[in-house]
Amino acid sequence: MTNMPYIDEKGRTYKYGEFFPYDMCPFGYNETNAHDFFNLKKEEAIKMGYIWKDREKRDYKITKNSYDLPDNIFDISKDILNEVISCPNNGNQDFQCSSAYRIMPDELQFYQQKKLPLPKYCPNCRHYQRLKYHNPFKLWYRKCMNKGCTNEFETSYAPDRSEIIYCEKCYQQEVY
Ligand SMILES: [Zn+2]
Ligand SMILES: [Zn+2]
Repeated sequence: MTNMPYIDEKGRTYKYGEFFPYDMCPFGYNETNAHDFFNLKKEEAIKMGYIWKDREKRDYKITKNSYDLPDNIFDISKDILNEVISCPNNGNQDFQCSSAYRIMPDELQFYQQKKLPLPKYCPNCRHYQRLKYHNPFKLWYRKCMNKGCTNEFETSYAPDRSEIIYCEKCYQQEVY
């Protein structure tokens, strides 16, 4: 395999010990975890030779607009379980938006228990909103911010972020 590597349509070579070539992958790029961490637009993914899976158009019969959901969980009755709620992202492909969603009985019970408002976006849009809070796959050299400590290390917290960054030793001392 090292002498006769596999070469894909884009001219990328795959030798012994490497991961499978992209063109052997039966899944769309946007169906895999790769898309969560290295977010690509449809055109970019196709240009790289990846498969893209378009969401099938569904004809949901919307019965409630998510903007009309009360903010207070105690203002919501069990009737909500029968509603088909619209997602404000309206089927946006970048978020794999499903355009509508429902609230499940256990879900409603959980929100009531925790005194949380109902979500106003579909599960896929919520997933992409959460991913925005992930640190990037990038490391920066930084100094420990604990007074008197001179330790330097790599961290996924960029230098312009507001969080206070400690080295491992100082952090352990602080939290124990
Ligand atoms: Zn959505
Ligand atoms: Zn330190």
